[in-house]
Amino acid sequence: MHDHRRLGRELELFHADPLSGAGLPVWLPAGAAARHAVEEYVRELERRAGYQHVYSPPLGKRELFELSGHLGYFADDMFPVLRLSADDEFVLRPALCPHHALVYRARGRSYRELPLRIAELGGMYRPERSGVLGGLSRVRAISLNDAHNFCAPEQVGAEVAEVLELTRAAHAALGVRPAGFRLSLRGPGEKYVGDDEEWQRAEELLRAALGGLPYVEAPGEAAFYGPKIDIQVRDAAGRESTLATIQLDFDKPARFDLSYTDGRGRRARPVMVHRSLVGSMERLFAYLIEVHAGAFPAWYAPVQVRVLPVGPAQVAAAEAFRRDCVLAGLRAELVVDGSLGARIRDAAQRRVPYAAVLGAREVAAGQVALRLRDGRGVDPMAAGDALGLIAGVVADRSAELLP
Ligand SMILES: [Zn+2]
Repeated sequence: MHDHRRLGRELELFHADPLSGAGLPVWLPAGAAARHAVEEYVRELERRAGYQHVYSPPLGKRELFELSGHLGYFADDMFPVLRLSADDEFVLRPALCPHHALVYRARGRSYRELPLRIAELGGMYRPERSGVLGGLSRVRAISLNDAHNFCAPEQVGAEVAEVLELTRAAHAALGVRPAGFRLSLRGPGEKYVGDDEEWQRAEELLRAALGGLPYVEAPGEAAFYGPKIDIQVRDAAGRESTLATIQLDFDKPARFDLSYTDGRGRRARPVMVHRSLVGSMERLFAYLIEVHAGAFPAWYAPVQVRVLPVGPAQVAAAEAFRRDCVLAGLRAELVVDGSLGARIRDAAQRRVPYAAVLGAREVAAGQVALRLRDGRGVDPMAAGDALGLIAGVVADRSAELLP
C-alpha cells in the first residue's frame, strides 16, 4: 500500500503544517519541481490544441457570483462572503467559470473565433469539512487545470470528442490509468438550473461523445448547471474519485448574456464546455504519488540525475557533469558525502531515476557509469552520450528509463 501522505513526507514533496491550516498543505521544493514540469507540459499540450491562457484573480465581487448562480445554488460549498463594507463584498471563488465568462464578453465575438478555448491553471476555494481532509487528495485551496470552450451549438459534439482525445494524451504521458468513465446526471431536487429540454439535449450530446466507451451512469452527480462526463481514478485504498471532467452548460451563457455574430450577421448564443484534463494539481499528485509509488517518470521526477564522484579526486569532473546536465535543462544534484554504495542506495530510495557515477577510470576516459533507480546498471559511456540518453528520455516523456 502506497499512501501518498507517507510518501509525500518521506520524499519531501509537500508539508501539512497545522499552523498553515487543515487542507492547506505547502509544496516543498521537490514537489514544486515535479508540479512545475507537469504544469508546463499541460500548458504546452493545450497551446498546441488551440487554447489561449489567461490569468484571473481567485476572488471576485459578490455580484459576480450572484450572476453566475453560485451563491444561489452552490453556497453550501463556498467559504462565507468577505465583507469590507456594506457595498464591498467579496467571494473566494469556488470555480473559474465566472471570470472566463468575463474574458469572453470583454469584446464582441464572431462565429469565426469559435470554438474559443480559454484556459487557466487557477486558484479556487472549497470549505471541505475538516474530517475529510488529508494530504493532497482533499484540500481547501485548489489549483485547477481548467478551461472553458465557447462553441456554436453545432460544434459541441466535435469539441467534446476532441477534449476526450486530449485527456487521453495527457493521461498517457503522466501515467494515469483511468478506472472508468461516468456520465453524471441530474438527480431529484431543486438544486439544478435550466429547463428539461436543455438538460436532455446536453445529455444526448454527451452520450454521443462517449460513443462505444464503457461508462456508468450516476444520477445526482451532475453540476448544478449541466450533466458531465467524469473520468474516474482509484487511489491506493481503492476509493474512487473524479480526476478529469467535461461539462456542458447552456445556463451560464444566458446568465452572462454571452453572444457572437453568426455567419448571417445575427446574434447567437454560444454553449460553454467546462473541462479539466487532469483536474487539480493537488488531487492529480495525490494520485500520481500513489500510482507510481513516488517513482515518477523521468520527465517530471523532482531530481532527474544524482552525480556521484567515487572520491575527492573526481569531484571537479562530477561537478562539471552536473553543470552540463543543468545547462541541458535537467534537474541534477551532486552528492559527495558517504560511501558510494550508500549514496547509490539513497538515490534509489529517493526515486531519483539516474545516478551518474564517476570513478578514476571513468574520469580518465571522459565517461560516466549510469545506475538506474530500479537497480539496473549501464556500461560506462561518454559523458555526452549519457547526458544525451537522459535528455532524450525526458524529451520523449517516456515511462521507461532507457530508450
Ligand atoms: Zn467551469
